[in-house]
Amino acid sequence: EEMTVGELAARLHLTASEVIKRLMTLGVMASISDTIDYDTAAMVAMEIGAKVEKEVVVTIEDRLFQVENEDDDSTLVERPPIVVVMGHVDHGKTSLLDAIRNTNVTEGEAGGITQHIGAYQVMVNDRPVTFLDTPGHAAFTSMRARGAQVTDIAVIVVAADDGIMPQTVEAINHAKAAGVSIIVAINKMDKPHANPDKVMQELTEYELVPEAWGGDVPCMPVSAKTGNGIPDLLEMIQLVADTSELKANPDRMARGTVIEAKLDKGRGPVATILVQTGTLHAGDAVIAGSTFGRVRVMLNDRGERVEEAGPSTPVEITGLDDVPEAGDVLNAVEDERLAKELVEQRKHEQKEAQFSAYEKVTLDNLFSHISQGDVKELPIIVKADVQGSVEAVKQSLEKLSNEEVRVKVIHGAVGAVSESDVMLADASNAIIVGFNVRPDPVAKENAERDGVELRFYRIIYDAINDVETAIKGMLAPKT
Ligand code: GDP
Repeated sequence: EEMTVGELAARLHLTASEVIKRLMTLGVMASISDTIDYDTAAMVAMEIGAKVEKEVVVTIEDRLFQVENEDDDSTLVERPPIVVVMGHVDHGKTSLLDAIRNTNVTEGEAGGITQHIGAYQVMVNDRPVTFLDTPGHAAFTSMRARGAQVTDIAVIVVAADDGIMPQTVEAINHAKAAGVSIIVAINKMDKPHANPDKVMQELTEYELVPEAWGGDVPCMPVSAKTGNGIPDLLEMIQLVADTSELKANPDRMARGTVIEAKLDKGRGPVATILVQTGTLHAGDAVIAGSTFGRVRVMLNDRGERVEEAGPSTPVEITGLDDVPEAGDVLNAVEDERLAKELVEQRKHEQKEAQFSAYEKVTLDNLFSHISQGDVKELPIIVKADVQGSVEAVKQSLEKLSNEEVRVKVIHGAVGAVSESDVMLADASNAIIVGFNVRPDPVAKENAERDGVELRFYRIIYDAINDVETAIKGMLAPKT
């Protein structure tokens, strides 16, 4: 492994001449474009007190490489879409999830015990579709903040008699930030005051143009209460999935994400895994976050024992030594000894990582990220006391975009900075700008914990000015 002096300088946030000077004291003569080897780079890094983690990181990645490596196109086969339902409170998310689940219950099963394991599958035209059973954007974005991108499609539920509400806007922006496909379910169509046209009109204000009006957002009228429209919604989900060509290789060791986990009195640690690629088998040795074990019993979403689970299949497993966290990645590995070893290594790494947290973008370090080329977009969340300020700030900030960096307001709303804003910022590496608002205490605490930058202003000009100078690398240090 080698890098140029220039690259090392960028990584260490030093100027090239500083690095060259330090190299000289080590007896190495090099110019900015010369390559130096890893050991030399490490010595410079150590001198300035930066952490060098190559050894450990490379080993664990190498060892997981056999399961993580890219799949050849020829090995990929179609997999079911994974769908999350989001929207404003009381617009019918839970009812819709229940109604969808019931479409699948055949007569003999009616009244049977439905298992809530955190996700379920229904058959649509003989092909499965997977739904996450926890509605809402908080769960969705907190998983994303942990690095788990499991969802393909977001169904945004809007009550036809109520229209777009604050959490609808949040849901839309969280889904957009994640880059998932959006389908709108206009729910409660059975109500006398249902007004789907008004909902569609409001959607256009958030750059979601209904298909019926020439845009690309399918809007499906449904009633979770009567079941009307649900088959059409399901078919639309499948259509959107088909155009996204979702694929995975079922013939490899499994990788999945923990979507729920708990300690069960009788069964010990129990975790619901959504398999993303490969096939998980009963008996497989696995690691999940900092837990490991051997898959003992595997149950599907109907509580039936299964021996294997392919891509996009949710299963509940037992056999882990401890309770993993939602969002943890699960990997099947060759044997249990390796699993144990990897977990010990990972725990060690996590301890180390606490001292060298992954660097979040802030206005202070923005310029060095831009010059390194690893930030091409600056996502910003704007919260203000009045809607007028949100709009004004959004427009002025986005105008600051230049060739190197695009400034993008991924969410803007009236109100205090909330937990959900911090989560979105964390997941999207965004900064939060507030006008005449404060964060709620939990939001503030979380922002500190996650290294998310919060900036508060009373004057719009000051904010624009700070972002502008930060982009140009001329921001004065915070006083
Ligand atoms: P959530 O908070 O988004 O999960 O909403 P719920 O599913 O709990 O629904 C909120 C309320 O709206 C409940 O009283 C539901 O019975 C009712 N509701 C949900 N869907 C419909 C519908 O399609 N029609 C009618 N009339 N009521 C509905």
